[in-house]
Amino acid sequence: MTDHSASEPSDFRAAVFHGPQHPFELCRFPRPELLSGEAIVQVECCTLCGSDLHTVAARRFGVTPTILGHEILGVVEQVSETPPVDLQGVPLAEGDRITWSICVSCGQCDRCRGGLPQKCRQLSKYGHDAAHGRGALSGGLADAILLRANSAVVRVPRELPDEVACPANCATATVMAAFHAIGPVEGMRVLVVGAGLLGLTATAVAKSRGAESTTVWDPIPERLRLAERFGADRTAVASHFDIVLDFSGSTEAIEKALEVADVGARIVLVGSVMSSDDLRLNPEQVVRQCWQIHGIHNYTPADLLDAVEFLRKHHQTYPFAELVSATFSLAQIDRAFQFANDHRPVRIAIRPWIDEP
Ligand SMILES: [Zn+2]
Ligand SMILES: [Zn+2]
Repeated sequence: MTDHSASEPSDFRAAVFHGPQHPFELCRFPRPELLSGEAIVQVECCTLCGSDLHTVAARRFGVTPTILGHEILGVVEQVSETPPVDLQGVPLAEGDRITWSICVSCGQCDRCRGGLPQKCRQLSKYGHDAAHGRGALSGGLADAILLRANSAVVRVPRELPDEVACPANCATATVMAAFHAIGPVEGMRVLVVGAGLLGLTATAVAKSRGAESTTVWDPIPERLRLAERFGADRTAVASHFDIVLDFSGSTEAIEKALEVADVGARIVLVGSVMSSDDLRLNPEQVVRQCWQIHGIHNYTPADLLDAVEFLRKHHQTYPFAELVSATFSLAQIDRAFQFANDHRPVRIAIRPWIDEP
């Protein structure tokens, strides 16, 4: 095991979530002893995903107590004697700037072998597990996390600002999984429903991959203006679409979108991650229109690699960095969630150490 110097902390702070209606509790957790393939990663920045907001607002349920936050950018602080390797097979070292998949999968079970590691039978997810025992430090709302063995790690190029890189392992990678499901979009008429971070990212991906037109639906005018800056066509006249991507999770919006799906359309549902109303869908229509309908939840390690590469290539073309509209410290976590609820920004960021020595 690598010796860590006396100046390194023996414990780490984390904002523990005890359930909706409870304030966060700033707790200290001991530095875990590292097992083979593990590392301690200092959290540089963690953006709050919609699912974190839903959990805190009781629209979504998970185990408690827990340390939320999974859109994490970190720097390796300590590695075990057998260090973890990144997805290219290169061992991690102290100082490496990294992101990693939300999902830790076994790699052995039928689902892992069948191409759905995000549905592994022994799945665990950063920012979702119970804050107990030596694996307690698994969420980004903390000074550091324990990087677990078999995590899918990607090195993040220095040129990518923290705010751009943070959502790579959630929003961006999930969008990559959606495009993976639908295949090439060149020359296609694309409809994106919902202009949050996933919808905006999908708009940029469709544009950069040569879609004929990209139309964005969202009830909020500011979001539509933002969508134009991510490549949405202001004057898209297409009345039918070859590709429909839903990130809104609104049954009503999905039904409207299906009305304009053309023959042979590929339809991807991504946004419906909370309980929702049933969808009215006529099977004859699916058959006669030859529709392909995909459900996408999370992503594979290959999608995460694609996500970082997409951001590296295009972060200067599309204003990803502007989507983080406020930054808070760990000690300000209750205020941060309040701000996110009141103002509904695309993203806010938590930097554990701002305002603190
Ligand atoms: Zn997320
Ligand atoms: Zn598995």
